[in-house]
Amino acid sequence: MSDVPDAGGSEMCFMPGHQLKDRIVAREITSRQLTEAVLGRIELLEPGLNAYVSFNRDAALARADEIDRKISTGEPTGALAGLPVAVKDNMCTKGTATTCASRILESFIPPYDATVVERLLAADAVIVGKTNMDEFAMGSSTENSAFGVTHNPWDLDCIPGGSSGGSAAAVASGEATSALGSDTGGSIRQPAAFCGVVGLKPTYGRVSRYGLVAYGSSLDPIGPITRAVRDCAVMMNVIAGHDPLDSTSYPKDIFADYTAELDAGVDGLKIGIPKEYFSEGLDPEIAGAIDQATRLYERLGARLVDISLPHTPYAIAAYYIIATAEASSNLARYDGVHYGHRSDKGDDIISLYSRSRSEGFGDEVKRRIVLGTFALSTGYYDAYYMKASKVRELFRRDFRTAWEQVDCVVSPAAPTAAFRIGEKTDPLQMYLSDIYTVSANLAGIPGITIPAGFTSRGLPIGLQIMAKPFDERRLLSIAYAFERETDHHLRRPEAK
Ligand code: GLN
Repeated sequence: MSDVPDAGGSEMCFMPGHQLKDRIVAREITSRQLTEAVLGRIELLEPGLNAYVSFNRDAALARADEIDRKISTGEPTGALAGLPVAVKDNMCTKGTATTCASRILESFIPPYDATVVERLLAADAVIVGKTNMDEFAMGSSTENSAFGVTHNPWDLDCIPGGSSGGSAAAVASGEATSALGSDTGGSIRQPAAFCGVVGLKPTYGRVSRYGLVAYGSSLDPIGPITRAVRDCAVMMNVIAGHDPLDSTSYPKDIFADYTAELDAGVDGLKIGIPKEYFSEGLDPEIAGAIDQATRLYERLGARLVDISLPHTPYAIAAYYIIATAEASSNLARYDGVHYGHRSDKGDDIISLYSRSRSEGFGDEVKRRIVLGTFALSTGYYDAYYMKASKVRELFRRDFRTAWEQVDCVVSPAAPTAAFRIGEKTDPLQMYLSDIYTVSANLAGIPGITIPAGFTSRGLPIGLQIMAKPFDERRLLSIAYAFERETDHHLRRPEAK
């Protein structure tokens, strides 16, 4: 324990998970010490950050003691032994409220764990709490939460990104060692970029969605948000793999050790630079940081190749039709009878449904239900939903063509760094900020964002890397090649 600086304090809260786990297993520190330190951060910072919807000190410490006991008796332990992990509040946790940051699910206590939660527990993680998010994962700033906005730890006046803003802010500020998020159109990658941490959106079908509250079912994977690329790989070892409970889980997905190729480097790799991602609207400071990152890859032996993903200008339109259409259907189940909030003012069944929904859902969720219902309605289905589905195939084609020329595609994660709370009041402006992330969801491919610098105002800049379906191991090694040559991931926000 002596070589851990400030072992009882916040220093531990910023170490990468894989190092902490080794120390816990070697009995240099205990899971209780680490969990107490993390809970200390939570209690200190939450009044300013609001990254959690709920956390449970007693349950977390009891769990930490259980893992410490296992270690002291020599029982084998899992890959996340004793690590405090946060879970986005749209993943079911047995016996613990799962609200989706919505009034309609405020009192919903799931009777089961999501598969990813089961897998975290089987790997001996300590789940510290449930993180804040845009209601039903609809948003890019975590301002749409019914429980208040989450603040960016680098600048409390700014948003942390969204919708997994709570998970990203918690990891960035030492309120969790790592976290889970979900990414329908960028909700892991963009908040990770805005908070200066690592976020991986896996290939669609690679991580089970069983127990994830559905938003856009054909787009939604769960993935890790961590402080280091290696932690992301370790977390994938825990959560990925076929699940018979999810019919969209890829049946042939056998266990692959995601840490195995981390050191592979980028020598001889071809890195695609898509011209459509560097056009109008991209903040010059972000463009500069991405340019520097690609030059570093070049110095490490990669070859930069200019490519085109020609349908990129249609990505936002296609995504917001498909995502809202699926959302309108998925959210039909919240009627005040099956789930969640029930109005006490309904005189008959129809008014009970409509009052429960109108009292329970926030404005953005209602807007999307209306948009999606419209796009699916008779007479408009062909013009909107069907058309968007056809355009979706063109994104897949764009990427298939790219893979004939390059091994991965590199781009900014977002056109700007984190913006100010309240700055984007027009929903369209907010939707446009997802321009670089939604294509990966439409195509179902994996993408990762990693810390790549800071703006002159001190806000983190994220680099996005995308790869072929099921090529996460290569994606992680490309990310790791950058991380080990740079120190952006080592900087921390000041505790406020
Ligand atoms: N910002 C996008 C949306 O609002 C993506 C959200 C997400 O990935 N869950 O739909």
